[in-house]
Amino acid sequence: MNIIGKCLSPEEFKEYITNKFFGFLPANKIVLHHTSQPTPEQWEGEKTIQNLKRFYENKGRSSGPHLFVAPDGIWLFYDMRKNGTHAGGGNWRSIGIEMVGNYQHSVPMGIVLEHTLYAITALNEELRLELEDIKFHKDYMTTACPGDAVTKEWIIKELKNYKIIPDYFLIKEKTKKSVFFVKNNMKYPIPDWDTFMFFWGDRTKDIIGLEEAEINQIKTGKMLPSIK
Ligand SMILES: [Zn+2]
Repeated sequence: MNIIGKCLSPEEFKEYITNKFFGFLPANKIVLHHTSQPTPEQWEGEKTIQNLKRFYENKGRSSGPHLFVAPDGIWLFYDMRKNGTHAGGGNWRSIGIEMVGNYQHSVPMGIVLEHTLYAITALNEELRLELEDIKFHKDYMTTACPGDAVTKEWIIKELKNYKIIPDYFLIKEKTKKSVFFVKNNMKYPIPDWDTFMFFWGDRTKDIIGLEEAEINQIKTGKMLPSIK
């Protein structure tokens, strides 16, 4: 099995898919999975990826799922231009995404959730997919995958509130005054008016107003230094 076997940060992933040619019949849906095992705690990056490759090869497969969303980043596994092997009848024109972990009893959280939402949102934008185009392994086969805790209602709600904000954008909550500077999909509070005017005084019109739920899902970084 030929795999790409590269770990990308969310921003690198976005750049990668923006520059990628997805073929003449690109994927028209995403099929979500969980690995069950390995868990995020067991994940060892390159070593685990090579183990997974051997695991599929031992099953006699020449292709696999396309992405592994892990704590260390978004791993490119099987080429997204090709049909993979991950969901029986759901293999045709789909991108198979494996969330690392077991989500039978609780939904993904923390960095795995963040990477999952980022990867799906970036792919939806690039391939012009709708939130309803997200499928589960269990839609095609008798399996609990991606875990009983993960429901369509839950993932669609998470994705609805999730936004990828381009670097260097300025955002605020619609009803509030504080402005944030965005880098690597993190928001950094701007400490005071003088600092805002000093760096961004000519950009007051460019501030994007977001709903409370939208702004809350963007992680907050350290307060930027004040010029005072
Ligand atoms: Zn699955």
